[in-house]
Amino acid sequence: MNGAVLRLAELFARARRPVAFTGAGVSTESGIPDFRSPGGLWDRFDPREFTYQNFVGSVSGRRKYWELGRVTYPVIRAARPNAAHLALAELHRLGRLDCCITQNIDDLHQRAGLPGERVIELHGNATRTRCLECGAAYTRDEVHEWLQAGDEIPACRRCGGVVKPTTVLFGEAMPAREMQEAERRSRAADLFVVLGSSLVVYPAAYMPAHAKHAGATLAIVNLEATPLDAQADLVIRDKAGAVMAAVLDGVRA
Ligand code: NAD
Repeated sequence: MNGAVLRLAELFARARRPVAFTGAGVSTESGIPDFRSPGGLWDRFDPREFTYQNFVGSVSGRRKYWELGRVTYPVIRAARPNAAHLALAELHRLGRLDCCITQNIDDLHQRAGLPGERVIELHGNATRTRCLECGAAYTRDEVHEWLQAGDEIPACRRCGGVVKPTTVLFGEAMPAREMQEAERRSRAADLFVVLGSSLVVYPAAYMPAHAKHAGATLAIVNLEATPLDAQADLVIRDKAGAVMAAVLDGVRA
């Protein structure tokens, strides 16, 4: 185990309230592309088209959104948790992880066995949908079947209203309860570990800064440099899966 990874294992073993903060990079090893790496989603689609305003405000916006969703959802559904998700779930079982604050919408932390109440989803969850008019809930699997059967724009089966995944789109308000909870737990953390996030998407990226200012040790595990590297106590430029598998071995040793 290299020195930096050993140090991270020691930090996890000693911390009283370790908090993980994950981004799209923690799921690339599960086969879900991130947004900003070369070959990522934004090389193929224009993010400006996929805004909340376009979705709620125009039929063409919703049609475009579901065109993309029809391609991306099967990738999420087929993905399996990788070594990083599994290590975080195991660290929690061992009493070495308070919670995981995630920007991801793929449900992989929960599927790895981390209890739902320990996963704070800042950008929602792609496996569920809700009618914006009457609130009826549908699984994304159900809605995907409607798309496969020929719906271009899924409508609520109960009231005909607009059905939207419970993900936070560009330009949409952040979920207030999750933001409060994430901020509270970030400030209470004594170890804050970023895994696979470019740390350029705000307000989510304020969390590591909140933790650091409140006195936490800040560790960043990411393949590329991030704007917060200079403030971090430990930076590991490596894949999250291998690093977290080794960290788990170190904590167990
Ligand atoms: P990002 O795409 O901006 O950055 C991902 C970072 O992870 C990059 O800096 C990259 O170098 C790094 N990375 C890639 N593979 C890695 C690996 N194996 N190990 C370590 N680092 C790795 O992602 P972000 O910061 O999460 O912001 C993008 C937004 O897109 C998020 O808000 C999220 O909601 C959404 N998103 C989610 C998913 C998902 O749910 N899996 C996928 C794509 C985008």
